[in-house]
Amino acid sequence: MVKSSPKKPPALNCQDCGGACCKYFALELDRPKTSEDFDNLRWYIAHKDISIFIDKKDWYLQVNTICRYLTPESQCGIYDRRPKICRVYGWDTTEETECHGPEPDNLHDHYFANLEELEAYLKKIGKYPFRIKKKPNERSKNGGLK
Ligand code: SF4
Ligand code: SF4
Repeated sequence: MVKSSPKKPPALNCQDCGGACCKYFALELDRPKTSEDFDNLRWYIAHKDISIFIDKKDWYLQVNTICRYLTPESQCGIYDRRPKICRVYGWDTTEETECHGPEPDNLHDHYFANLEELEAYLKKIGKYPFRIKKKPNERSKNGGLK
């Protein structure tokens, strides 16, 4: 699991931020190569609360869901036993900080909030539209309704 790989720290601190980093997590994806890989990205991002970003040529799936232990006051409700990733991730005044701050697309090389943004990028790099070969007798996921 990753939080980010920022290029510079945001101009804020945790008190002002509202716990932005407690409202999502991201998982690194295998770099997409085939049309099917790129189509899978389209499928992921078709789901609610999913976004995708690229940092240093690595692709990430971002799940925009709030930690159940973030309090209404934007404090950690399990501060003394919070997971390690929460301990090492944070804002400071150095260039080494891992924090992206409250802007979801802040400092990523590319950030896609929805299918349309992803498709526009894939078109730009010549990866979309594409033809997916259907296997003989292949049924669609919902039993042939589409
Ligand atoms: S580490 Fe960064 S994103 Fe998380 S609460 Fe602090 S300033 Fe906000
Ligand atoms: S455990 Fe605490 S620090 Fe970690 S994501 Fe949840 S609220 Fe934030």
